[in-house]
Amino acid sequence: MPRPVCYSTKAYSTPSATSPLGAAVIERRQPLAGDVQIQILYCGVCHSDLHYARNEWHFTQYPAVPGHEIVGRVTATGPGVTKFKAGDTVGVGCLVDSCRTCPSCRQGLEQYCDAGMTGGTYGGTEKHLGTPTLGGYSQSIVVTEDFVLRLPANLNPAAAAPLLCAGITTYSPLRHWKVGPGQKVGIVGLGGLGHMGVKFAQAFGAHVVVLTTSPGKAADAKKLGAHEVVVSTDGKQMAVHAGSFDFILDTVSADHDLNALFNLLKREGNLVLVGAPERPQPVASFALIFRRRSFSGSLIGGLPETQEMLDFCGQHGITSDIELIRMDQINTAYERMLQSDVKYRFVIDMATLT
Ligand code: NAP
Ligand code: ZN
Ligand code: ZN
Repeated sequence: MPRPVCYSTKAYSTPSATSPLGAAVIERRQPLAGDVQIQILYCGVCHSDLHYARNEWHFTQYPAVPGHEIVGRVTATGPGVTKFKAGDTVGVGCLVDSCRTCPSCRQGLEQYCDAGMTGGTYGGTEKHLGTPTLGGYSQSIVVTEDFVLRLPANLNPAAAAPLLCAGITTYSPLRHWKVGPGQKVGIVGLGGLGHMGVKFAQAFGAHVVVLTTSPGKAADAKKLGAHEVVVSTDGKQMAVHAGSFDFILDTVSADHDLNALFNLLKREGNLVLVGAPERPQPVASFALIFRRRSFSGSLIGGLPETQEMLDFCGQHGITSDIELIRMDQINTAYERMLQSDVKYRFVIDMATLT
């Protein structure tokens, strides 16, 4: 196959784990059959972007362009595109492709593709060019229409951008484990993922408890929909809730005590990990084997469920609480994210990438 024709677009990229992000020019393929070209209007800032930019998961390909909470406008379509046309407002999340033939892909669970996350929006492989995929901190992207999502018209596009990762990553496990009325649900960490977890768990009818290391976030947690707030560093507050949770969603991005969280679960309660700290976290067997507790994980969501989540958000008016930043504020935003100082998701206004 001849190499596709490419065009240049502006981006923010980093050349190494220890360098700040800075302006760069990258290449994208011109739309091929089935492709949609998107002018990126907004891109959310996920903690995964920081883990990836700094090679904390040890698979970063440099130069790296993070960003997988993309909202934009279709500017062109390749031959045979049927779902989208120029002018449509669309979303792109953590996936831009997958093998499409394995059992997981056939079931719309592309995130669990047997071939691995080859189609990651960044850190995957651009199969037409044979180069690493480059993410949404850029002015334009080209994605096969099968991995492009429709954005409900009533949602603010900037505040909807974080739904593409933080939204689906919390929606999917809450749906999979059927969280709902009569259940006591803990959301650990009130950051980008956590605040969406609170909104969804509340919308699904659960009794929602936020577990936070930041006492100053308690009032916000209640406004976001939490019924109770526990400061997880306060042993007395934790003891009150011992053995009482049906389900806990752990969104923490750094080292923390899992066993203290297991001890909050009821008999047969389940702690689901979505946070992905750089280092392994110790698990004490007694914290699980007593009371037959479960410890699970969950990765983003597939394309059908991501569209379902967006439509649910459209019907219920759910978006993210965001702080809009300029592209050149990204390095400061990363430092603030490390200080748990995000209310509750940074979103880059891509018009500021000039
Ligand atoms: P974030 O906005 O930085 O939020 C993380 C929150 O965790 C912080 O706001 C803080 O909340 C809490 N926290 C931070 N350090 C802590 C520590 N040492 N001990 C206890 N709590 C701590 O990050 P995010 O974007 O929500 O992402 C969270 C994690 O999920 C990241 O590791 C990310 O890579 C991962 N992730 C996974 C998936 C998936 O598919 N599984 C998808 C997206 C992201 P408080 O101030 O309330 O304590
Ligand atoms: Zn993410
Ligand atoms: Zn597959």
